[in-house]
Amino acid sequence: MDEENLHRKLSSLRKILERSGPFCRPDFEPSPESLKFLMQNCKILVVGAGGLGCECLKNLALMGFRQMEVIDMDVIDLSNLNRQFLFRHKDIGKSKAVTAAKFINDRIPGCNVTPHFCRIQDKEPEFYKQFHIILCGLDSIIARRWINSMLTSLLVYNDDQLDVSSVIPLIDGGTEGFKGNLRVVLPGLTPCIECSLDLYPPQITYPLCTIANTPRLPEHCIEYVKVVQWPRENPFDCCIDGDDPQHITWIYEKSNDRALHFGIRGLTYRLVQGVIKNIIPAVASTNAIIASMCCTEVFKVATSCSASLNNYMVFSNTDGIYTFSYEAEKNENCLACSHSIKEVPLKSLDVKLKEFIDILKYDNAFQLKNPSITAKISGKNKTLYVENIASLEEQTRQNLSKSLFELGISNHTDLIVADSTAPSTFTFKVKVSD
Ligand SMILES: [Zn+2]
Repeated sequence: MDEENLHRKLSSLRKILERSGPFCRPDFEPSPESLKFLMQNCKILVVGAGGLGCECLKNLALMGFRQMEVIDMDVIDLSNLNRQFLFRHKDIGKSKAVTAAKFINDRIPGCNVTPHFCRIQDKEPEFYKQFHIILCGLDSIIARRWINSMLTSLLVYNDDQLDVSSVIPLIDGGTEGFKGNLRVVLPGLTPCIECSLDLYPPQITYPLCTIANTPRLPEHCIEYVKVVQWPRENPFDCCIDGDDPQHITWIYEKSNDRALHFGIRGLTYRLVQGVIKNIIPAVASTNAIIASMCCTEVFKVATSCSASLNNYMVFSNTDGIYTFSYEAEKNENCLACSHSIKEVPLKSLDVKLKEFIDILKYDNAFQLKNPSITAKISGKNKTLYVENIASLEEQTRQNLSKSLFELGISNHTDLIVADSTAPSTFTFKVKVSD
């Protein structure tokens, strides 16, 4: 960008930041310092360099933000190129974060985007602590929950009083086809992502009896091959890899046979890919709209020039354009941000460990993914079950069929639970209704 352009752009930012107005927050003081802070000091982390991430990086850079970092574990795929506009055909196979950062830095002089080609879980709390604002453009609920829990774990309380300087605002955008949403979270102060966990629709699953006996949709046939035929025939001696064309072809052929057998139409290779990889079609315009709103919120939080969104906005352009914002409420028993002890209500201690784990996984209030449980019994830690490490899973598997009573658990026992949705462990207690 040449000098003249920069000057013109800065003059519009100055109009907002150096004048007062009816929408400014009470703590806003018009001054040239805001712009200086925004350009020189304000550190933003963009989580995800996909459809939303590319848009956000571009918007923020053009709004004057200079100190940005971006984190993404993915590499660029051909199918990204229609909307992830910082990538070119020659970039296929390269890191999204690295390529996006380089594109922005080359294009916008003075912009300093640092890329991180890794998983969010690979970074320590110290890494997240250094940012003023975190902007999430993710397609994964688990990753979102993880970041949210990371930010709530960074909160500092002095005698139960929240130290507001430990609050790192989280702006979270999400899109699915023609729909999108946006939320502004001030961890510890306003409702967090986990507070309204029950708003996420459950993943589409089909009852096994339907897919086995009375399939009606092509999806039923694909699902049958995936959950029944693949494990039984184990054609490639490994788990299904949705990116492996041989795997998809095998599933396509088998499910096609099944569809023909039941007289079901509409089964295509693309559909097989979509069902196996859980693909939700991405729409470039939805991403652009949600990203623009995310970046406006970042700008508002960074400068106080206007009140932030309070606190949840939904958007849909499926049928005309619809948008609505409302104030989501805090959940007093929130797993991430409440200070209360998390209780799991049970009928009795005769509940088997396996059933207890299913409650943690499938009850709307918890929705954990792969909980590993350690009990604190008479001051000693006793590992009850570990799901994600094969050798420990084998050692602890026999506990699954034991009741909590047999395992020595009472109403007072602390159950320490680790899960992939959060960076640190949760402490639960069981609560037996009498
Ligand atoms: Zn919460």
